[in-house]
Amino acid sequence: MSTAASDAIRPPIVAAGDAGRDTFAYCSQQYRVVFGAGTSARLGEESERLGVKRALVLTTPEQQDLGHQLGAGLGDRLAGLFAGARMHTPVEIPNQALNIVESHDIDGLVPIGGGSTVRLGKALSLRTGLPPIAVPTTYAGSEMTPIIGETTNGIKTTQHSQDLVPDTVIHDVDLTVSLPPQISAASGLNAIAPAVEALYAPDANPLTSLMAENGIAALARALPRIIGAPANATARRDALYGAWLCGVCLGAVGMSLHHKLCHVLGGMFDLPHAETHVIVLPHAVTYNAAAAPDAMTPIARALPATNAPQGLFELARRLALPRGLADIGMPEDGIARAAEMAVRCPYANPRPVERGTIQDLIAAAWRGDAPTQH
Ligand code: NAD
Repeated sequence: MSTAASDAIRPPIVAAGDAGRDTFAYCSQQYRVVFGAGTSARLGEESERLGVKRALVLTTPEQQDLGHQLGAGLGDRLAGLFAGARMHTPVEIPNQALNIVESHDIDGLVPIGGGSTVRLGKALSLRTGLPPIAVPTTYAGSEMTPIIGETTNGIKTTQHSQDLVPDTVIHDVDLTVSLPPQISAASGLNAIAPAVEALYAPDANPLTSLMAENGIAALARALPRIIGAPANATARRDALYGAWLCGVCLGAVGMSLHHKLCHVLGGMFDLPHAETHVIVLPHAVTYNAAAAPDAMTPIARALPATNAPQGLFELARRLALPRGLADIGMPEDGIARAAEMAVRCPYANPRPVERGTIQDLIAAAWRGDAPTQH
């Protein structure tokens, strides 16, 4: 085998019956992904493909220079740059950007950045119907989903629409190298969460299960190497590839208890998104382990670990990520309130969601305990 072939991204070979259900429905989404090192140089070509003549580039203030640099590749198709994307996108931001879209005759959007910038692109796309070409620079995976989340008065609500999936995604591995190692670790481990829940989703199917296991394996392999060597090209490629697959899982099947808990906690206490997911995941998986044994095997195999929740907890320790919700600012008196909110309108879950056990789960996550059965 040549070096190039042995270094290639290898999917596991799993038969349909092992990777999900024998009877299932699979719905594919319509998008084009351009993956690899240096692929953002193809922005002009990709916008031409979509017939975009006047593109608006979107970035955060911190990534404005990157926006100018990549936007230059659009040539005459670059109509402007809006560098107002921010975490938790307050509604004024898309409204400001909408004024620019309308007054400058914009016919295409190019969000360049993390989940917050991609979210701004989705919010604008929802209001205008314009085609986005997303250029993600973190592992959030938002660019692969038909979902937009918005927080109003401390309650996060999500909307689904196929129109929210970008027409084209340019996954340029080189753009992720500048993502600081600790943010890479949190963002990458957060990306694993939807793949984990995809394996016990009510509408799980062999294709999403394959993507989930392969996505978890790629990220679990890459993240510790990124901490040790942030510029390692193979590790960066594996992490972005894993994030892509895990993002597809988030968009393709229903999410369960873990995502409900993180939506409640993030919305109620304004907690950092990625760290909240990292801390809650081993506890949510422990809660569901006995009710979803078939999902635990591929998770453990992908990490690899002998026990799925323990393996997720240990991976977070190896990456030196925060251990408890207390460490990221959740007040102790919020535990009971969060449990109350989490059992209201629960998402479909392999194990019934009960107020008392959910409160125990949140309390354990708040303290930063190792995962134990609740
Ligand atoms: P982010 O987009 O908020 O970015 C965080 C910071 O990192 C910003 O300052 C940004 O400029 C900077 N940054 C981004 N890429 C960088 C790089 N390569 N080098 C250096 N700095 C860089 O963070 P995020 O974790 O990507 O996204 C989180 C948001 O995405 C949350 O609001 C979450 O709700 C959303 N999200 C949505 C979905 C969905 O399906 N709708 C999925 C996952 C996440």
